[in-house]
Amino acid sequence: MMERIRIVEGDITREQVDAVVNAANSALAGGGGVDGAIHAAAGPELLEAGLALGGCPTGQARSTPGFRLPARWVIHAVGPVWSGGGNGEAALLAGAYRASLEEAVKLGAKTVAFPAISTGVYGYPKDKAAHIALRTVRDFLAECPQLREVRLVCFSKESAEAHREALRELHGMQSDKDR
Ligand code: ADP
Repeated sequence: MMERIRIVEGDITREQVDAVVNAANSALAGGGGVDGAIHAAAGPELLEAGLALGGCPTGQARSTPGFRLPARWVIHAVGPVWSGGGNGEAALLAGAYRASLEEAVKLGAKTVAFPAISTGVYGYPKDKAAHIALRTVRDFLAECPQLREVRLVCFSKESAEAHREALRELHGMQSDKDR
């Protein structure tokens, strides 16, 4: 199942996948970072469609069409703001990934691309967030044959390295179990 997870470096707005996940805010009102890039690439209809959903709680996800993006859908996931780790951030971040994957399956998507949710303005430490991302995706794929590929799109070398390291650790745990 690890073959269905790919870590790539790049701009998520260019990804040729069925659905791209946006690191949105709970108002679904657009913003900076990856949210701004996705809105700029999708066109103004995305803001209208997002606002019409009436918001999304932290740890959950909603979807809209992708408009001018190569992706057919945008899944708007709301990750937590990091405030030291003692405020349920890990569960909320895992929730945002899981809810996005569930939404992708509901939509009928076979390929999904994620940015590193919460690791920009929201301040989540990159290595901790990468572990949660990899573990949540791996656990979900184990139960879900419909999804062919989940791409984790990293915007920097540092972010890609954090994800590769997290993947190596999961691999290690997997082969320990097999022994
Ligand atoms: P958050 O508010 O959830 O922290 P940000 O957009 O500030 O969201 O950052 C989330 C992650 O997305 C960061 O790691 C940032 O470097 C990355 N990012 C920014 N622009 C892009 C893009 N065009 N494609 C992929 N990732 C991006």
